[in-house]
Amino acid sequence: MSDDIFAELTNIVGERRIVVGAEVATREFPWETHASCDAKAIVMPESTAEVAAIMRACNRVGQTVVPFGGATNLVQGCATSSDDIVLSLERLNRIEDVDASARTLIAGAGTTLQAAQDAAAEISLFFPVDIGARDNCQLGGLVAMNAGGNKVIRYGMTRDTVLGLEAVLADGTVISSMNRYIKNNSGFDLKHMFIGSEGVLGIITRLVFRLRATARSHNVALLACDKFEDVVAALETASSTLPNTLTAFEVMWNSFYELAVQPRGRLDAPLEAGQAHYVLIETMGVDQEQDGQAFEVMLEGLMEKGLLTDGMMAKSDKERELIWQIRDEVEPAIGGAHNFDVSLRSADVGDYVDQVDTVITGQYPDASVIAFGHLGDNNVHVSVSEIDWNEGSIGFVEKAIYGCLEPFAGAISAEHGIGLEKRIYLSISRTDAEIELMRVLKRTLDPNNILNPGKVVDALER
Ligand SMILES: Cc1cc2nc3c(=O)[nH]c(=O)nc-3n(C[C@H](O)[C@H](O)[C@H](O)COP(=O)(O)OP(=O)(O)OC[C@H]3O[C@@H](n4cnc5c(N)ncnc54)[C@H](O)[C@@H]3O)c2cc1C
Repeated sequence: MSDDIFAELTNIVGERRIVVGAEVATREFPWETHASCDAKAIVMPESTAEVAAIMRACNRVGQTVVPFGGATNLVQGCATSSDDIVLSLERLNRIEDVDASARTLIAGAGTTLQAAQDAAAEISLFFPVDIGARDNCQLGGLVAMNAGGNKVIRYGMTRDTVLGLEAVLADGTVISSMNRYIKNNSGFDLKHMFIGSEGVLGIITRLVFRLRATARSHNVALLACDKFEDVVAALETASSTLPNTLTAFEVMWNSFYELAVQPRGRLDAPLEAGQAHYVLIETMGVDQEQDGQAFEVMLEGLMEKGLLTDGMMAKSDKERELIWQIRDEVEPAIGGAHNFDVSLRSADVGDYVDQVDTVITGQYPDASVIAFGHLGDNNVHVSVSEIDWNEGSIGFVEKAIYGCLEPFAGAISAEHGIGLEKRIYLSISRTDAEIELMRVLKRTLDPNNILNPGKVVDALER
C-alpha cells in the first residue's frame, strides 16, 4: 500500500483499528469458509462517516476494498488478494433502537444476528430471520447475501424483513434510506439494489428491520418417510392444513441424519438412523392448545395416509431444541466437502438428488453425496465429499450438479449467493440481458471497479 493511502486510512480510523503485515493472515474464519485472509490491511471503521471517508480515499487511488461481515458466506464472497484492503464492519455493532410499538429494530451492520434476535426477544418481539451461523454472521452480511434460512416459508427471505438501510457507495456517497414503514412508495425503493448485492454495489452500514409478534405456541415434530413422494405429500398436507402457522419444513436424507446423531454423530437420536428421509415440521402461532391440537390432527392424518415410517412430536423445549440441533448440525456434512445450494420444484427434488448421486458415484464410486435443506422453500443443499479434490474432480462435480439442474429449470443459488465460486455458472440461471444489466449497474455505481471486484459478475467483461 502506498504510504499516502496507509497514512490516510490510519488517520481516519486511528492506529488501533487498522491491522497490517503478518497479523492480517491471523484473521480467523469461524466456520472455515475461506482458506486465509491475504490483504494489505484490515480497517475497522466505527461509523458511516468513517466508512465514507475510507471509500473516498480508496476510490481516489483505485484501491480495491473487500467488505467483511462475519465472513460466514459459503461462496468465497470474502476472498481477498494481497492487493486488497479488507473493510471489516465488526465495530458498527450498536443496536440503536428497538421499538415495541412500531415493531422495528435499528442496528449497525456489524451487529450479530444472535444479538439482534436477543434484543427483539427482550421486548417480547421476534426477529424472523434465523440461520445456523447466527452467532457469527452480521446483519450487514446477512442483508448483503439476502440470506434465507429456517423460517422462510412463513416470513420470507431477509429482504422481506428489511424496511430500510444506509449504504456507502464506492465514491463515498452516503445513501441514507432508513425507512421505518411497511408502505413507502415514494419513488424507487433503493434498498433493494443493495439487498443481495454481495458487497459489489455499496457498503451497508445501518439497517431498519421489521419485527414480528412472538409466538405463544410452538410445535415441532421429527418424522421419517420412506419414499420421497411421501415427503412431498406431507409438505402439501402441512401447507394446506396449517397455512397460518407453518414456519418450517426441512428435509434430511439419512446420509445427513446419521452423521448428526449417535452412534456415528454427536447428538441423541430421537428416531433411529437408517430410514430414507427425515422431516422437521414446525408451527408457531398464538394459542398453544388450539395450535397443538391442529398440529396433532395433521400428524395423525399423515400417519393414516401411510406417509410416515416413524415420527415423534416434541413435548418440551428440550426436545424441540434437540430436533433443531440435528438440523443445524451441518459441520459433519459440509466440512471438507464441496457444497451446493439449488432451487427447483419441491416435487422434483428427489429425482434431482438421485440423478446427481448416480452421475457422481458413477465416476467416483467412493464419493459421498449428502442432501438436506429447506424443502418448503424449494431449496436443497447437496454436499459432496470423499473425493480426491483437484481441478478435474471439482469441474466434474460442478458440471454434474448444474447439468442435472438444467432440465428442471432450477436456480444455481437458492440462498447462498454467487460470490466468486458460482460466477461462471450464472448464465444457467440468468439471461444474457439480465447479466448485462447487472454489469451496467456495477459499472455505474463503481466505475473504478474497487468494491469486492470479481464477485457475482465480472464488471469488465462486455
Ligand atoms: C453454519 C452456516 C449456516 C448457514 N445457513 C444459511 C442458511 O440457512 N441460509 C442462508 O441463506 N445462508 C446460510 N449460510 C450462509 C450465509 O450466506 C451467511 O452465513 C450469512 O448470510 C453471511 O453473513 P456474514 O456476516 O458472515 O457475511 P460475510 O460472509 O462476511 O459477507 C457476505 C458477502 O457480503 C459482503 N458484505 C459483508 N458485509 C457487508 C456489508 N455490511 N455491506 C456490503 N457487503 C457486505 C461480503 O463482501 C461478502 O461478499 C450459512 C453459513 C454457515 C457457515
